[in-house]
Amino acid sequence: MKINPAHLGFDIDGVVADTGGAFIRIACEEYGISSLTLEDITSFDVVDCLDMDQGIIEAIFGRLLDDPLDAGLQPMQDAVSVLHSLAAKAPLTFVTARPHEEPIARWLEHFLQPDTFKSIRLIAMGVHDRKTSYIKNLGLKYFVDDRLQTCRKLAEAGITPLVYNQPWNKNGHDLPTVNNWQDIQALCAE
Ligand SMILES: [Mg+2]
Repeated sequence: MKINPAHLGFDIDGVVADTGGAFIRIACEEYGISSLTLEDITSFDVVDCLDMDQGIIEAIFGRLLDDPLDAGLQPMQDAVSVLHSLAAKAPLTFVTARPHEEPIARWLEHFLQPDTFKSIRLIAMGVHDRKTSYIKNLGLKYFVDDRLQTCRKLAEAGITPLVYNQPWNKNGHDLPTVNNWQDIQALCAE
């Protein structure tokens, strides 16, 4: 499988951004919950797998959604360098279920080179379940996402999902996966 970068799109949280890592750090630094590790997040719906006050969970995700830069959200290892190398071949496309585009646009602008950022396509859907039709309309054939339900829907619609391996998506599927950004780079290499 060799992927033309022009046909590849990316989810942001859990793929480009280390949202799980940021969640754990904020839980520790701001709420004193120090026992949490990434492996404890075994469900995409964090409320279902962590024995943690729902109000705190919502407050942390609220911060990550409203001001990801201020919340200290970091890119995944190698994400920025691989995105720049892919951007040399085709504009980057991001489709996120985040409700607001502006905070995550500022986050991308902070980490991407100005020329790369200027040419991105960024769609903030607000919901998970309409991603498929958008991704199809954008002409994408491959999409990297960490939410299994989204990946299954993409596969049903004829788009090849690449499940970005995370503790919350490891079980119960036989879809193609990537472990890290080096894997993504390798799939796109000529
Ligand atoms: Mg995600």
